[in-house]
Amino acid sequence: CGIVGVLGDHEAAPLLVEALKRLEYRGYDSAGIATIHDGKLKRRRAVGKLVNLSDLLVHDPLAGKAGIGHTRWATHGAPTTGNAHPHRAGPVAVVHNGIIENFRELRAEMAGEGIEFQTETDTETVALLTHHYIEQGDSPREAVQKTLSRLDGAFALCFLFDGEDDLLIAARKGSPLAIGHGDGEMYVGSDAIALAPMTTRITYLEEGDWAVITRNSVEIRDADGQQVYRPIKTVNIDS
Ligand code: GLU
Repeated sequence: CGIVGVLGDHEAAPLLVEALKRLEYRGYDSAGIATIHDGKLKRRRAVGKLVNLSDLLVHDPLAGKAGIGHTRWATHGAPTTGNAHPHRAGPVAVVHNGIIENFRELRAEMAGEGIEFQTETDTETVALLTHHYIEQGDSPREAVQKTLSRLDGAFALCFLFDGEDDLLIAARKGSPLAIGHGDGEMYVGSDAIALAPMTTRITYLEEGDWAVITRNSVEIRDADGQQVYRPIKTVNIDS
């Protein structure tokens, strides 16, 4: 129900949890984060309040300066740790707000190719599809573009990739998504409120947009793959 992403110069885990706290008002049943440290993607997930995730992180910390986080309001699959986001398939980790309406068709297609599922969520199909395209030789960006063209429904997505500590890919269709601009740091959030402690310089993705983000660049494309310009706005939020 809430999405955050960080490509920073500081430890990402505390920033992700703090940003997720600012999205608590939206409601959720579980939460999780993934980070990249020494090129390796790792994740922690917990059912219930964010404090359960924070406690887990005290005992089993996640280092790394790039990461994604999620608070989940389950729509498909019970609110369990295994169904909590981020979802992972091979090098791909993804967090998702919304619903992938055609996930049953996609699941059936993938099952036919022998791909196995670990969760009951609609979201896992996104991770598996992207992984599938990467296995066929696509770059993360190409794989995400192909995946997006397969998805029906309303969603905001943020991807992180094992081995890529300077890359986030974010996409929106029917669910809002904001990109925050820091100083050599970049953020993603389902709304600007999540990012307020880190930055007030915000680019809102428009319907169908997807963005390839590094610490020093943002490239936004529309649903047709055309590069588009979206302005940076300074938002005033009482924090
Ligand atoms: N449909 C997804 C799930 O049930 C995402 C729900 C959400 O927006 O939190 O896992």
